[in-house]
Amino acid sequence: MHIREMLADAERTGAPSFSFEYFPPKTTQGVQNLYDRMERMNNFGPKFIDITWGAGGRIAELTCEMVVQAQTYLGLETCMHLTCTDMGEEKVNDALRKAYKAGCTNILALRGDPPREKEKWEAAEGGFRYARDLVQHIRKSYHEHFDIGVAGYPEGCDDNKDEDLLLDHLKEKVDAGATFIVTQMFYDADNFVRWVGKVRARGINVPIIPGIMPIATYASFLRRANHMNCKIPDEWMQRLEPVKNDDVAVRDIGKTLVAELCRKILAAGIHHLHFYTMNLAQATRMVLEELDWMPSPDRPVKQALPWKRSLGLG
Ligand code: FAD
Repeated sequence: MHIREMLADAERTGAPSFSFEYFPPKTTQGVQNLYDRMERMNNFGPKFIDITWGAGGRIAELTCEMVVQAQTYLGLETCMHLTCTDMGEEKVNDALRKAYKAGCTNILALRGDPPREKEKWEAAEGGFRYARDLVQHIRKSYHEHFDIGVAGYPEGCDDNKDEDLLLDHLKEKVDAGATFIVTQMFYDADNFVRWVGKVRARGINVPIIPGIMPIATYASFLRRANHMNCKIPDEWMQRLEPVKNDDVAVRDIGKTLVAELCRKILAAGIHHLHFYTMNLAQATRMVLEELDWMPSPDRPVKQALPWKRSLGLG
């Protein structure tokens, strides 16, 4: 199912929905553990999951493998991230073919981060320069088969801090055929709502999915916020800093702050939230519990595992 249809459902019913992002682990055991966790976390009721794209060699192959496993065998509606980093056109086509064969119908099309050993991003020979070019290529090759999402930056992007220019480039991606936007993580709800207003004023009307990063420890909270250059509201620091050495207290206060952020986003008319799980369940589960969104006997999760059932696995 296309993500835009899931989002239209959420909008029609007014019932908020959410999705989870995972990344390919480094070890074989880590991959197996993650499949188990993905199945367990499916009981929380996400509408879909994303698998991020790891630049280069084995990690890129692993993204494809995980998409096949999640979509085909675990029966999870899966969105594959795909980047242009170190990818000639043939490699891009190979990844798309694998996703298509697995029954995956959603791609998040990105330019990608520079590979670890390089500071500056450079296009691969015979590859694409911008996410916009990748969107165009996917549309041209697969027409309407894939729903295509692109990245949005309410807090600015590493190699471009000019908000108006970033909005121009966002518009180009949507005009090229993208049908939804997923944002980077952020903690400043007011800034996000302001940014959404600017996006709409540009005539960009596709759904915007905010990226939510739950708080697991104080150190990881600070590290990720700094890495993404994302503003931390003063109140958050005032509440978290005094308990920074107590992980239990950090998670407890963190879940309240992040749930409050989610409520403000919903109040601004957004119906779907995307959780950066960092491959872990606890911090995301705590936020969902705080929002009272975890399935319960009166609100059972709608399990959609047709492939798994048809294979006699579920
Ligand atoms: P683009 O939109 O192509 O923009 C890249 C740069 O080029 C920007 O500075 C932009 O302003 C500029 N630009 C764009 N179009 C033009 C133009 N026509 N002329 C001149 N300049 C232009 N990275 C990964 O490696 N793997 C992932 O799985 C991944 N997932 C992500 C998911 C989300 C939700 C987000 C927000 C980011 C993710 N990233 C991922 C990081 C992303 O790849 C980087 O932020 C990257 O630097 C930019 O990617 P983009 O798709 O936004 O690129």
